[in-house]
Amino acid sequence: MEPFIYAAQAARVVFGSGTLGSLPAEIDALGLGRVLVLATSQQQAEAAALADRIGRRAAGVFAGARMHTPVEVTAEAMRLVERDGIDGLVAVGGGSTIGLSKAIALRTDLPQIVVPTTYAGSEMTSILGQTEGGAKTTLKSLKVLPEVVIYDVDLTLTLPPRLSAVSGINAIAHAVEALYAQERNPIVSLMAAEGIRALSRALPVIVDDPHDRRARSDALYGAWLCGTCLGAVGMALHHKLCHTLGGAFDLPHAETHTAVLPHAVAYNAPAAPDAMRTVADALGAPDAARGLYDLALRLGAPVALRDLGMPEAGIDSAVAAALKSPYWNPRPLDPSALRDLVARAHAGEPPR
Ligand code: NAD
Repeated sequence: MEPFIYAAQAARVVFGSGTLGSLPAEIDALGLGRVLVLATSQQQAEAAALADRIGRRAAGVFAGARMHTPVEVTAEAMRLVERDGIDGLVAVGGGSTIGLSKAIALRTDLPQIVVPTTYAGSEMTSILGQTEGGAKTTLKSLKVLPEVVIYDVDLTLTLPPRLSAVSGINAIAHAVEALYAQERNPIVSLMAAEGIRALSRALPVIVDDPHDRRARSDALYGAWLCGTCLGAVGMALHHKLCHTLGGAFDLPHAETHTAVLPHAVAYNAPAAPDAMRTVADALGAPDAARGLYDLALRLGAPVALRDLGMPEAGIDSAVAAALKSPYWNPRPLDPSALRDLVARAHAGEPPR
């Protein structure tokens, strides 16, 4: 066994079907009396139903969360927090809503109870990305780590098949990069392998039948594990490329991960053979990169960045941006090999 450091992140996790029923007890356990319920406009009805469920302890609903946590949206929610004497936050939704909750917690240190409804995994991390004037910045602070996470499988049944597929591959990407991270350790690697295994088995079933509860439960379990990996160790080239591409061309978050992942894995394969074997075994495929590409195809998920709106003329500028302040990566960054990686992901060709 190689030496390692493992730092557990404190969070209470309640997992199952119908677990939303425990929300009033969780609010009481934290001693909260005036919570603000957060959601996107698309999930306003869920937020209102949830506020009904917690009765007088819900001081209001703010259903204005948006992708990439724009600071002006946070400022709008902060006005309600201050006006209504809010003492806690309940977020129901995906990474966008959880981002808003974290942004408020950063400014107020209010406790957060988070109810994730996608597989993105933000609930398990102390990372917050925010945008101001179109520029995205990311910070790490324990202030933004939610106190309680309630995973209720029932709330994921409505996640449309396409969104389930790309959100699930977004989660798998966290686990894949955790396996070859600089701070990798045996506990996180166990979670990563199990997370990839659970999601890669469940997602094809979900795409065929979004209401299959067993597959939904396995996928949410996998998403929790993968989110924990993201919160525990640093990410590498794949996440750097996705942040760069998403920011430069305003590409959708989870879809970008889906198109890039097989190529980033192929790039890193020669430098991380043990991680590649673990990923391939977890996927039940002979090769990690090809297995991830085939999974995306099987799920009907996008495999070409050009289909997401990235112009071909952007390939060189994306490579140049990815080379600027790069993340640690197991394989040194070679500009011409990186260009090949991005060009293949742009065209949707198989990884090599
Ligand atoms: P999202 O939160 O933007 O959700 C996408 C859409 O799906 C929204 O309209 C949402 O209301 C809807 N939706 C969510 N769950 C649903 C359900 N069960 N049924 C029907 N509709 C549902 O998407 P996401 O991929 O979860 O999050 C992406 C954002 O999260 C990005 O901004 C990304 O940067 C951030 N993120 C942050 C971290 C972190 O650690 N800070 C980790 C992962 C993602």
